[in-house]
Amino acid sequence: MATLEIVRLGHPSLRTPAQAVPPKEIASPEIQRLIDDLVETMRRAESIGLSAPQVGIGSQLFVYEVPEDPAVPADAVPLKVVINPMIVAQPGRLVYDWEGCTSIPDLRGLVPRHPSVRVRGLDRAGASVDYVASGVEARIVQHEYDHLNGMLFVDRMRDLRSLAFSAEWDRYLTAEDGMEFAAVV
Ligand SMILES: [Zn+2]
Repeated sequence: MATLEIVRLGHPSLRTPAQAVPPKEIASPEIQRLIDDLVETMRRAESIGLSAPQVGIGSQLFVYEVPEDPAVPADAVPLKVVINPMIVAQPGRLVYDWEGCTSIPDLRGLVPRHPSVRVRGLDRAGASVDYVASGVEARIVQHEYDHLNGMLFVDRMRDLRSLAFSAEWDRYLTAEDGMEFAAVV
């Protein structure tokens, strides 16, 4: 496994819709290595999600994982690999919460997301997956799905006044709101 370079805001890969992975190529060493490298890179970056466009590869593929961590007020989510996803928002009012992105380092912002989404796609074995993600997992999936469509969390913000550097966010905003967690994906 290798750690890949995470590209940053301004790299065209972040603004280019990704291409579907041909299902017969999922078992190939190239795609399997890419998946392993994305997982390694995500963990190294201490983020909880990473998409192929964030390492400059225009394939519809992302990984995510919320580790068991007493400092994170969210349920742990085991490692998931999602290829060629379609997501459908489930009923419910939009939820505003903090996000960050390893491709936009050190910034946090309040982003509205659907409280739960149905996810359909393929896993790393090429098998169909179909499940409903909610809470932090729903937020991660929507953020990563946006990456596959050239969208970033700042595009989803309704009010840019909540945009903050992480140090200032830690210092001023978490105390004010009693919130201490931003989904960095
Ligand atoms: Zn991101």
